[in-house]
Amino acid sequence: MALLDNHIAVVTGAGSGIGRAIAAGYAREGARVVLLDINENAAAEAAKEIRETGGKTDSFALDVTRREDCVAVAQQVADKVGPVSILVNNAGITRRNAFAGDADAVAADWHDIMAINLNGPFNVTHAFLEPLRATKGRVVNIGSIQSFMHLRTPTSPAYTASKHGVLGLTRALAAELGRHGIRVNAIGPGFIETPLNAKVRASDPALVKTFIDHTPLGRAGQPDDIVGPAIFLASDLSSYVTGSIVMADGGYRTV
Ligand code: NAP
Repeated sequence: MALLDNHIAVVTGAGSGIGRAIAAGYAREGARVVLLDINENAAAEAAKEIRETGGKTDSFALDVTRREDCVAVAQQVADKVGPVSILVNNAGITRRNAFAGDADAVAADWHDIMAINLNGPFNVTHAFLEPLRATKGRVVNIGSIQSFMHLRTPTSPAYTASKHGVLGLTRALAAELGRHGIRVNAIGPGFIETPLNAKVRASDPALVKTFIDHTPLGRAGQPDDIVGPAIFLASDLSSYVTGSIVMADGGYRTV
């Protein structure tokens, strides 16, 4: 018996990076996985790759900023796949304009980052609330080191604010939905090598070194480093855990 047998798991932003790794990990543990991404081809490609290794998957295009689309996709998933018992709110973006920089760029960053990183989890969780209630489901939100602090590395204030918000939303929903049997937790990844930070890794190795020098485990993380915590929080292994954040940051925040 695998840890996620008989579960249906939805992962947003599942076409790339951390979401893609979590989707594959959940499928290995027996879940049927629904991959959602704004990039339909990336989600379909990731779903196909998982199916080729024996996993059960479906994929749909979804822009998490569009509330009505979230409701429509939740209905499609209910009709075509079944009742969702695990939701991973993973879709996210970052930008690196400083607050005192170009005002239009900073305002655009604020709008886009909040819409995807914070309104997205709100929209998608709301859309899947009924099946999560019916299945006594589990929600896993992807936070960050920046759920607790701002980083000196060039990073936008909106990203820090959005990830603080993700932790706040996690706690608020855990408090309210616990009585419905729904557990809501978060994961706080450190610096994980994905397309999200490919540009900065290529253009600024000194910055990456500074980050890794501060990390007790002395290396950058890989998407697979987030899979274990994501399985833990979605499975019965964490049956009395809610409102928590599991840091998977190589120890960054301890020093
Ligand atoms: P990634 O490789 O860029 O993957 C993010 C995925 O989300 C991409 O497929 C992206 O599509 C998709 N996406 C973007 N906007 C979307 C929208 N509006 N609706 C649905 N999907 C959308 O990034 P990642 O590093 O795996 O990041 C995943 C999560 O981890 C994010 O929440 C991020 O903030 C968080 N995180 C990452 C790190 C890190 O170091 N990588 C650290 C802490 C937290 P496109 O590629 O087409 O835009």
